[in-house]
Amino acid sequence: MAKKNLYFLQIHFCKRPAFRPAPACFDPVTRREPAVMPPSRCDDASFLAVKIITVIFTGAFLLVLFLLCTREPAPAPSQPAVGRTVYGGYGGQGVAVLLFHAVGGASAGPDTISPEDLEATFQLLKDCGYVPIDLNRFHDFLEGKAGVPARAVLLTFDDGYRDVYEYALPLTEKYRFPAVAFAVTKWFDPYPRPEASRSHLSAGEAKELLVSGLWQIAGHSYEGHRLAAGPGGVYRPYLLTRTWKPAENRFESEAEYKARVWSDIVLDRAALKRIGVAEPLDFAYPYGAPDPGLIQILKEAGYVYLYTNEPGLNKPGQDPSRIFRITAGRHPHETMALLAWYFSSN
Ligand SMILES: [Zn+2]
Repeated sequence: MAKKNLYFLQIHFCKRPAFRPAPACFDPVTRREPAVMPPSRCDDASFLAVKIITVIFTGAFLLVLFLLCTREPAPAPSQPAVGRTVYGGYGGQGVAVLLFHAVGGASAGPDTISPEDLEATFQLLKDCGYVPIDLNRFHDFLEGKAGVPARAVLLTFDDGYRDVYEYALPLTEKYRFPAVAFAVTKWFDPYPRPEASRSHLSAGEAKELLVSGLWQIAGHSYEGHRLAAGPGGVYRPYLLTRTWKPAENRFESEAEYKARVWSDIVLDRAALKRIGVAEPLDFAYPYGAPDPGLIQILKEAGYVYLYTNEPGLNKPGQDPSRIFRITAGRHPHETMALLAWYFSSN
């Protein structure tokens, strides 16, 4: 009964904003408005007021019942604060972790979004009622300790390219969107340069991202983001295969392979700590590829939340070593169509 009263009062006290979704917000399959509702304008204070009124209302009702029936009514079932406020209450189905890479010119490659398209994507996220959350809240959500708004998204940028500092940082400041950079941390050191291809974040630029208060920096290997020929001549991610030792005309042993991966991960964490990440907990698999052996080493090193490139929404209680990510499209409407599909079909 208390729950019913609560929702009744929510309808009257917490009216949802008039919602006029842009065409890009529509479900690409049904061509109708997304099944999910826009977030309520209720803030915590108004919701607290609603709860107080609800408690008074429920108490009076139970007292009447007691007098009429001359027996004590059963207490109202307790509800977890998390589900009551946001998750599940307003149609929130989970968190979509969006995956971007580089930001730059249109001709730079399939993993590159232009600054103009990135801004258009941010504007559409805002217009369509998506709510970027920060990493700490995402952790709490996965652990079941906190809720998130409906249509919550976590913005992530892989590889730690310098153009994230140049283009994405000003846009996140303009929209006040939190974001995460999964950096290949060897580039924080001063001496790998000059770089043969697209520039990566320096330690100073990474620190500026942190100082913004909007960005967090996470692991993506120290120098393990490449492919290497393993046994059978098959090229696989460097952290997932035994490599050839030409001087000894043989492949690494299993023990040598594990020691190499361990060194890379320890160096990765040390680089993150040097720029000011107090306790690195998040790591994105290079090439998005999880592996039981690598997962074990990452956990032993201290990483907890491990990100794949497998698409889907994330929910409380799921395996934190297989966090789903939706690769953002190069074009804003493509990204909106993907989000609409995952949120409406989940
Ligand atoms: Zn990568």
